[in-house]
Amino acid sequence: MVEKIRNNTLYFDGCNTVELAERFGTPLFVYSQTDISKRFSEIRKCFIEGYPKNRVAYAAKAFCSLAMLKLVEKEGMCVDVVSGGELYTAIKAGFPAERIEFNGNNKSVEEIEMAVDYEIGRIIIDSLQELDLIEKVCIEKGKKMDVLFRITPGVKSDSHDYIVTGKKDSKFGVPLDDEVVLPYTKAAIDSEFVNFLGYHFHVGSQLFDNGSHLQAIDVILDLVRKVKDSFGYNITELNLGGGFGVRYRDEERKSFSYFLEPMMEKVCNAFKEIGIEIPAMVIEPGRSIVAEAGLSLYTVGSIKDIKGLRKYVSVDGGMTDNIRPALYGASYTGIIANKAEEPRNDTVTICGKCCESGDILLKDEKIANPEAGDIFAVFSTGAYGYSMSSNYNRNTIPGVVFLKDGEAEWAIKPQGFEDMIVNDMIPDSLK
Ligand SMILES: *Cc1c(COP(=O)(O)O)cnc(C)c1O
Repeated sequence: MVEKIRNNTLYFDGCNTVELAERFGTPLFVYSQTDISKRFSEIRKCFIEGYPKNRVAYAAKAFCSLAMLKLVEKEGMCVDVVSGGELYTAIKAGFPAERIEFNGNNKSVEEIEMAVDYEIGRIIIDSLQELDLIEKVCIEKGKKMDVLFRITPGVKSDSHDYIVTGKKDSKFGVPLDDEVVLPYTKAAIDSEFVNFLGYHFHVGSQLFDNGSHLQAIDVILDLVRKVKDSFGYNITELNLGGGFGVRYRDEERKSFSYFLEPMMEKVCNAFKEIGIEIPAMVIEPGRSIVAEAGLSLYTVGSIKDIKGLRKYVSVDGGMTDNIRPALYGASYTGIIANKAEEPRNDTVTICGKCCESGDILLKDEKIANPEAGDIFAVFSTGAYGYSMSSNYNRNTIPGVVFLKDGEAEWAIKPQGFEDMIVNDMIPDSLK
């Protein structure tokens, strides 16, 4: 764990969080580089060292910035992008194009052109039309693209409905019916303009049980057999997506090896039995890399004690920097960073400053006695926090600081008010 309590103060990756709040201002995102690197090392041990063909593509959507992608690049990992904007960020961060993989259920022609121009490593095709589109672009540009098909394995996973993606009724992936997926696979195998490598699935997010990944592998293995028997074609790559769960409050995080070892074992055994060389295996962890590496710091403002009902403690951020509690009831925990050793015997609701009653970060949380000016820290906000932030109420998006060896540096500057109007225009009709 990168958080420590000393002298009544919360430290994160060796840095005094109260001093960070003073020096950089609040609201503020703070990331521990140590923690991120540690996650990659764990994966390297159980997934890469014994299987040199395997790759890890960090799912950039969890948290995407030049600094983050630079760190991922330096760790030797690949990156999974889902938009032109993320692709642009990866290129600008200095990512070698061949280590970029492109997911997404509705890639535009411009995005596909960009991917082909840069000659990125993979496009993961999500729909029947997309293959045609990629072929068209490759013909125009005289290039050939390595592709996988994302399929919907039809397994249920035990998570919130909004983050379940592997069931058949989903906007993601190609349905697994033989009459759909087989001719489609054949078309890709026969194409001169794409190089078909294999399949991809992503069963869901924030999972604590390896069951849905393992079930999905079974489903894919059937398909691999069929493709071998029907077309004499041996796939060379399988992408198992992300979805590995993290600790927000008191969940017990499973190790990467809990997921990855049985997955590799299943695939290796099955491919031996089918008589195909073990494919390159890819995973796309997002949340499990950055969630716990991130901490949000806020300053406490107004406090409203509604007798017999609830005590509201307002902070200087809210749903604009962390929409997950409002969007799907995500639950976090936090402490007053400057009262870290004081008894937590006040039950309060930490709310943001936006004009929405649902702008609540933590509900009925036990904390030390709060006062205006205290620094409140919310744990595990590194994934889908900054990346989902908005300018609602024209609140500015906070900055991000990266920590390493007890030193702190800006990774993203906070927005200023001038950024709020940078793209605004006054139409002639109003002048
Ligand atoms: C969201 C997503 C991921 C990452 O999921 P996490 O739960 O953050 O690990 C990986 N692959 C695809 C295709 C995704 O959509």
